[in-house]
Amino acid sequence: MTDSHHPTLPSLPGSQWPRMEPGWVWLCGAGPGDPGLLTLHAVNALQQADVVIYDALVQDCILDWAPQARHIYAGKRGGKPSAKQRDISLQLVDLAREGKRVLRLKGGDPFVFGRGGEEAQTLVQHGVPIRIIPGISAGIGGLAYAGIPVTHRDVNQSVTFVTGHDQSGLTPSSLNWQAIAQGSQVIVIYMGMKHAGQISAALLDAGRPADEPCAVVSSATTPDQRVLETTLGRLAADIDSSGFEPPAILCIGRSVLMRQVLDWQGMMAGAAPRDLDPLGRGLPAETVCGG
Ligand code: SAH
Repeated sequence: MTDSHHPTLPSLPGSQWPRMEPGWVWLCGAGPGDPGLLTLHAVNALQQADVVIYDALVQDCILDWAPQARHIYAGKRGGKPSAKQRDISLQLVDLAREGKRVLRLKGGDPFVFGRGGEEAQTLVQHGVPIRIIPGISAGIGGLAYAGIPVTHRDVNQSVTFVTGHDQSGLTPSSLNWQAIAQGSQVIVIYMGMKHAGQISAALLDAGRPADEPCAVVSSATTPDQRVLETTLGRLAADIDSSGFEPPAILCIGRSVLMRQVLDWQGMMAGAAPRDLDPLGRGLPAETVCGG
């Protein structure tokens, strides 16, 4: 898919697809990058919108799905104070009041560390009708593209999603890293690159082992996807020497080991699985321990 030619737009079967009415804003997740991870509701919206207001994380090729619409870039740099956030929301209000069909397109899922809730609230406060279309979040789908299952019965019964930035752009001071370290079997960190050193130091201080497996997945699900496997003790140094750029997801926990058997992209490229039993169960997968 390139800028010079539009993809063949699929026609959605049946008549059950919601119609975008003038004056409405649909707040929609675009998924982590690969257009194949758009939902059918997202495609339906892209085909009807008059205006698409999109974030930095939305891949250009996804906008090709809305050739009829005006495309407005509303990117903000991660970590900077979100002074313009309210301006974006008010622009959505203005466009809706002009009678446009407005598609607000955000990377991943709009309600996962995406300020989608704030935008939606402003719209409702201004009397603008909304629809929400969830998307595949980078912390789940991006890890899956790296062969890392975000839960796995032999590893974790819970997962904690954390942001490495708060509104001030600093490591979230409101987070109790001690509690997270003690209570979270697997930790998935969004926007964690800049503060990886502080975050890993806090987790190590709180007793997480230095040899705990970690992965960094940058530009997940895009042609530029890169994956770094490391340990908590080496995380910050290895990020520095890797040259990886945001956006990237960090995953801390033993589920990262599963990549040794589930790196499906590596296998597609001809690599053999590195270890068929990376958790060392000594039993075929799916056989129940002790029974
Ligand atoms: N709403 C988005 C998250 C927005 S916060 C979602 O649900 O995915 C922005 C952060 O998301 C980035 O700093 C990065 O940590 C993560 N992210 C988004 N897209 C990504 C991608 N393709 N690869 C890796 N990380 C990504």
